[in-house]
Amino acid sequence: MRILVVEDDPDLNRQIVAALGDAGYVVDKAMDGEEGHYLGETEPYDAVVLDLGLPVLDGVSVLEKWRRAGKKMPVLILTARDRWSDKVAGFDAGADDYVVKPFQMEEVLARMRALLRRSAGHATSELTCGPMVLDTKSARVTVNGTAIKLTSLEFRLLSYLMHHGGKVVSRTELVEHLYDQDFDRDSNTIEVFIGRLRKKLGVDVLHTIRGMGYCVSEPDNAN
Ligand code: CA
Repeated sequence: MRILVVEDDPDLNRQIVAALGDAGYVVDKAMDGEEGHYLGETEPYDAVVLDLGLPVLDGVSVLEKWRRAGKKMPVLILTARDRWSDKVAGFDAGADDYVVKPFQMEEVLARMRALLRRSAGHATSELTCGPMVLDTKSARVTVNGTAIKLTSLEFRLLSYLMHHGGKVVSRTELVEHLYDQDFDRDSNTIEVFIGRLRKKLGVDVLHTIRGMGYCVSEPDNAN
């Protein structure tokens, strides 16, 4: 899952980016509204953390422009405690949730998990596929109850496919959602990671759909 953080306070920006990175997401950052708007319009993010008080272009305007352009990614806005009108303006502009400053980072992470889950149509923090369970809260994967040790990239790859369970995801889409904007992307490496994941999982849940991409589904439903 790839997330954009738009926050002009350098310390806060760094903290949010670090926390999301530690939680297993790929994170891009912007320090003002104009840069944030540009990234959100041109890159395919799974979710955005958007401060409302931003230089150059304010957060509500950024959000309005994205929504007018048909961008549907979930957006979590950051608002100041005494500015209830900001929240209203944010929701009216198309925000999905908000966190009031100052906040506990855990709250941002929990709300982000919920947003990603809901936008993918899942009601709980555990995503299940046959004998495999991916817990989005603890970032752990088990197969038949046994914990599987994955690298952060393997986890991101599996998590993205699990969030889109049953749907075929192209290699290009995976690359776009697994690496940040500065990464030297090579879609051929995806096949390598898929192979490693299959081996580690030891169950037939990762399917290659020739010429189209990959999907996660129960062993019985294999194409
Ligand atoms: Ca600000």
